[in-house]
Amino acid sequence: MRPPEHIEAALRRQQRPVCAYVYDTAALRDRAAVVRAAFPPGTTLLYAVKANGNPHVVRTLAEVCDGLEVASGGELALAVAAGARRIVFGGPGKTDAELAAAVAAGAQVNVESAHELRRLDRAARAAGVVAEAAVRVNRAGPALTGSHAMTGTPTPFGVDEEALPGVLGLPLTSVRIIGFHLHAVSNNLDAAAHAGFITEALDWSVATAARHGVPLRLVNVGGGLGVDYLSDATIDLTALGQDLIVPDGVELIVEPGRILAADAGWYAAEVLDLKRTHGRWFAVLRGGTHHFRLPAAWGYSHPFTVLPVDEWPYEWDRPQIENTSVDAVGELCTPRDVLARDQHVERLRVGDILVFGRTGAYAWDISHHDFLRHPPPVFEVI
Ligand SMILES: *Cc1c(COP(=O)(O)O)cnc(C)c1O
Repeated sequence: MRPPEHIEAALRRQQRPVCAYVYDTAALRDRAAVVRAAFPPGTTLLYAVKANGNPHVVRTLAEVCDGLEVASGGELALAVAAGARRIVFGGPGKTDAELAAAVAAGAQVNVESAHELRRLDRAARAAGVVAEAAVRVNRAGPALTGSHAMTGTPTPFGVDEEALPGVLGLPLTSVRIIGFHLHAVSNNLDAAAHAGFITEALDWSVATAARHGVPLRLVNVGGGLGVDYLSDATIDLTALGQDLIVPDGVELIVEPGRILAADAGWYAAEVLDLKRTHGRWFAVLRGGTHHFRLPAAWGYSHPFTVLPVDEWPYEWDRPQIENTSVDAVGELCTPRDVLARDQHVERLRVGDILVFGRTGAYAWDISHHDFLRHPPPVFEVI
């Protein structure tokens, strides 16, 4: 994915050697509008903060989405600071302090177990309020295809469908259960399958609520809308919501992260060295997987574009390769610090900049920043 002109300009302004993330707030706003338009009117669009917790990114998406989905006390604090109009708190390991903070912030909680529901009830009672909650369910039915199946299979997420009657039957004084949370998958590229999943989730929720006497007000189908890192493709948003019918009186909530933030981020790293060992070319970058771990975590090659830099400050010949394949590797002392393998380049010189698109989600945020103690990238938000 080639950076647009304004991103290239921002990268060319960076100090050398370049190592930077640029986040494009206009791209965040545009994408949020497209995602919103993909769903039936009245659908609630939340941004899942874990995809990118940069405060500027969070604030921008808090403005253009209906609210934020958070999964820790830290994200909750970010969401409050960002002025989120609505906060939904999920995640499998909530502490009492986090539950109390969620209650204090007026967040709706997606509860993950009977024990957690009891603790939420206790926290709400202590605060003298009634909290609203959805129960996250790991359903018996088949899972969706995508990178991380979270339901229909053994996982630490949600209440097993078999255990649901026990959870819904708990005597509560200070929690009102108003729906279900059914986040199921990550990075799904199949729009028809995703639409089928949402339809089925709505049907299941209506039937299950009726069976257990839950006054169903909301169905949260989570995130999982995918982008294809190996091409420019994304899940077909135009096909996604066309045939969705949301039952009267039920609020459909979606809480994507990746599809909102991925294309608003650009990671750039300067080539510090070029070398050939055992017949293979390596471009060693000022940067690497400690800034952008996703390719290492998922085991794929993340495509880059070369931003040529003509300036050459040294008095010897500039190392360069032409019309060949190269591995883009980082500055860490481990052979696993690889961002891309075997990508063809027309020409690459020491001092050129490699630009990795689609790095606005699960990029910096999931990386092991302190390993080897190199300086962090520059972050520019435009
Ligand atoms: C991670 C997560 C999301 C966002 O998922 P994406 O794949 O980024 O859209 C939404 N909801 C929950 C509960 C999550 O854990």
